[in-house]
Amino acid sequence: MTPKGIGNPIALLCDLLAEGDQRISAEAIGGRNAPEAIALSEAGLIVPDGVIDTTICNACDEVHLAEIDTDPDSGGYSWLCPDAGFVAADCDIIAAYAVSMQRLATAVSDALSETFGRCRWRMRRLDDTSAWMLGVWSIGSASTIVVLARGLAASAEAQRVRQALLRLPRNDAGLVITIGGLEGLEPPPRFASAPLDAIAFIEGSALLVDAQVIDRSVAPHLFESLHARGGRPGYAMQVKEILTRLDQRGELPKSGTGLAGIVRREWTKIYPNEEPPAPSTVRNHIAVWRAR
Ligand SMILES: [Zn+2]
Repeated sequence: MTPKGIGNPIALLCDLLAEGDQRISAEAIGGRNAPEAIALSEAGLIVPDGVIDTTICNACDEVHLAEIDTDPDSGGYSWLCPDAGFVAADCDIIAAYAVSMQRLATAVSDALSETFGRCRWRMRRLDDTSAWMLGVWSIGSASTIVVLARGLAASAEAQRVRQALLRLPRNDAGLVITIGGLEGLEPPPRFASAPLDAIAFIEGSALLVDAQVIDRSVAPHLFESLHARGGRPGYAMQVKEILTRLDQRGELPKSGTGLAGIVRREWTKIYPNEEPPAPSTVRNHIAVWRAR
């Protein structure tokens, strides 16, 4: 998880990307040695991109823009101030980073494959929006399409994203990973949503996703889609679904002892509005599942 004592680098990245793809100065993210900057840079989510073109002069009392130039004497960078003459530029201020939605989309897609296995569908920009369709993964046992979107607080973009989601070929479930607010978007049926900083984190030098949080976001929507498809899925289907999820998360006990209790507890998390079946019924379905 995010190392203790520093801000959340993913939340910082979301703030930057909410304003669009851009080149930012190191100063804007606390300098090149700020823990967040190091974490994002090592995970490849921001990349060094030369130096910024202009800065605000900090060598005189006048607030003026100054063009950054190479300094032939020192080999470093400087700017010319009418008052103070040549001012050596602090690398921390003028170093630039590139931030882009496509780079993040690639990292999240890789992390999803790392966690949920093979990705179906190739990542692509979602029609005329600034969102990306990351791919389709098997989450729980649901074939789930995952989309990364930003700027959904603006109703025009939210409307475009919704229309594009509705045009996608149908899967069991969908997940919209959001950057910034979701206010404007009414997700289509079967689509769950989760903010990026709730499902992704940086560990070591990689962006990773939290399988459990994603699983729990998608599960209730999957249940709805099963309902929609052919009426009530029935206990057998739901127990199978829970066992598959436990299995994928490596939480299935080696021996069968206590498994019915685990399944019933999991049931109340996924289907909070529904009483789990009796332990004996659950045990019967477990036996069927084990014998598959
Ligand atoms: Zn000046």
